Amino acid sequence: MADNATPPAAPPEQRTAAIEMVLRRHGILPDGFVGEFTEHADDAWVTSNGARMVARAWTDPAFHTRMLTDGTAAAREMGFEFPEHHRHLVVLENTPDIHNVIVCTLCSCTAYTIIGAAPDWYKDLDYRARVVRESRTVLREMGLDLPASTEIRVWDTTADTRYMVLPLQPPATEGWPVEKLATIVTQDSMIGASRLDEVKG
Ligand code: FE
Repeated sequence: MADNATPPAAPPEQRTAAIEMVLRRHGILPDGFVGEFTEHADDAWVTSNGARMVARAWTDPAFHTRMLTDGTAAAREMGFEFPEHHRHLVVLENTPDIHNVIVCTLCSCTAYTIIGAAPDWYKDLDYRARVVRESRTVLREMGLDLPASTEIRVWDTTADTRYMVLPLQPPATEGWPVEKLATIVTQDSMIGASRLDEVKG
């Protein structure tokens, strides 16, 4: 190896520890902050938030309209929060003919306070590069084989605009109470990597 070659990157845990050490040394990382932040994220930024919004949209037409008009306001109305830089939550409604799928081609952005932390595959370079070019094939590889007649719309997340998919309600769940409906809504269905068609009543 040449003297000026870039050394291999340290594992993420070591890099995180190094950043923490520097921040602490400069007095800008209060004691206990990381623990409290992590605990809050684990408790409050969970997939069931989005699932509850979806279930409510299925059962409450006025909320459905509000959610599609202004997702951020609809989420706040249910007590959910956003970091300051998540300025817009845009809700994408699936129909029998239109399927929406989300990606962050640059990195791993999601509406994580609403749908939970991004799954590993979402951060994968392969998914990020290919879903925009060959979405039908990528979704099929992930187990979602859409008919050729279904239009696929791919949405590229930005720092200030976050998306969630409003999946179609499975016909077999018609009439279920909202709390039970929320239990069937998965994170993948709110990213657009799956549909909920298979749910039986
Ligand atoms: Fe990102």
